[in-house]
Amino acid sequence: MSTGRLRNKVALITGAGSGIGLESSILFAQEGANVLLVDINIEAVQGATEIIRQKQPDAKVLAIRADVGQEEDVKAAVDTAIKEFGRLDVMFNNAGIMHPADDNALNTEESIWDLTMKINAKGVWWGCKYAILAMRKNPTDESKGLHTGGSIINTASFVASMGAATPQLAYTASKGAVLSMTRELAIVHAREGIRINSISPGPLKTPLLMNFLNTPEKRDRRLVHLPMGRFGEAVEIAKAALFLATDESSYMTGTDLKVEGGLTSAYVTPIGEQALTAPSSLTG
Ligand code: NAD
Repeated sequence: MSTGRLRNKVALITGAGSGIGLESSILFAQEGANVLLVDINIEAVQGATEIIRQKQPDAKVLAIRADVGQEEDVKAAVDTAIKEFGRLDVMFNNAGIMHPADDNALNTEESIWDLTMKINAKGVWWGCKYAILAMRKNPTDESKGLHTGGSIINTASFVASMGAATPQLAYTASKGAVLSMTRELAIVHAREGIRINSISPGPLKTPLLMNFLNTPEKRDRRLVHLPMGRFGEAVEIAKAALFLATDESSYMTGTDLKVEGGLTSAYVTPIGEQALTAPSSLTG
């Protein structure tokens, strides 16, 4: 149920056409935000705005195509948010890829490394850069005597914090970059009222991972390591993003919020049936 926690706020979400970005766009719009949905796949984000409008005819949502691996596209996306909605309060740098040819140190082609870094690491850098420039222009909230600043959320991954014998070297390195970049930027901009945090999702039931884990064997190889005995749902990450987007997380910056079902705390995982059922998607 909406509590209007993002009323009058403007949010830009990248990778909004699927998975985490899609669920976050629906949730942020439900919470009253003006949402700019950005994706390299324009049909996907146009479809997402239709889903949102069906649920909420008065939702203020707009879809545009941008490749976060191109600096000028990221700048243009932020400019569009300002032009259409007047300001930028929340930047969710969420778009990312996991390339099927990404492998170990011996087999990964340089072109795969470069492409992954361009989208997953540089895309986040550019998203932070243009969001910071935009958020600096947000007016001071006189009632609170505070810079209104903004909240930047970067999607990292559990693989930034733990190794796997099923390697995707470029992806893992790119997510490590997201973690360290987020920490540093958070400190640099802490006195400007701009909070910058990351989320490290665990393995999720989204196209990004499920296209890759396309056999029961591949899925079971991972499931045995998950304490809850299930993959996460994109909506569970969207709820964490909502928390970081709002003032409820006002004393948090430079933090990595792990939403991974206990994965990074586990040594020996439990056996038996999974106890908790997963929440359902907001798309239905
Ligand atoms: P997804 O594949 O469901 O959605 C990703 C979206 O990003 C797609 O709509 C795609 O079109 C878009 N996209 C891809 N490249 C882009 C580009 N260059 N510019 C703009 N948009 C682009 O994936 P998801 O699972 O929702 O992943 C979202 C983020 O979460 C990614 O950064 C991913 O690395 C991270 N993550 C996912 C998992 C998982 O298990 N699914 C785990 C940890 C972290």
